[in-house]
Amino acid sequence: MSVTHILAQKGRNIEAIGPDTKLAQAILHLASKRIGALLVIDEANSILGILSERDIIRALVAGSHALEDNVRDHMTEFVVTCSLDTSVGEVMDIMTRGRFRHVPVIADNDVVGIVSIGDVVKHRLAEMESEKSAIIAYIAAG
Ligand code: AMP
Repeated sequence: MSVTHILAQKGRNIEAIGPDTKLAQAILHLASKRIGALLVIDEANSILGILSERDIIRALVAGSHALEDNVRDHMTEFVVTCSLDTSVGEVMDIMTRGRFRHVPVIADNDVVGIVSIGDVVKHRLAEMESEKSAIIAYIAAG
């Protein structure tokens, strides 16, 4: 199964902000959408970075004045992405090796979605459930 299947279920909605957004505003955005990361993009929709709740926690360790910092000061600039035909197993590998839980999906040079570790786990559990049902049906038929 590939990333296409995950996006077909969750939709291709992308939550993104500009680099000069204040950290306080980014926190409100994350909370209102109940998500853990935002893509940071420019006017041409190109990816400049990614900001996750972990970046915000690190920033706040320095003091609550960080809430007035711009997102660009705390985002990760080198963003690892995948494509629509990347397999779910490969995405799991990318997340494990990179120690992050969000991977943007690129198609024809555009961002078409973000896969989170929650999406991957949900997909894997559904797969295991259907494998279990198939084995039970096979045994029952024998
Ligand atoms: P996360 O586990 O997604 O909350 O992110 C943990 C750290 O990795 C944070 O510093 C993020 O900015 C960074 N990060 C998240 N996703 C990616 C990605 N796809 N590529 C590179 N860094 C990332």
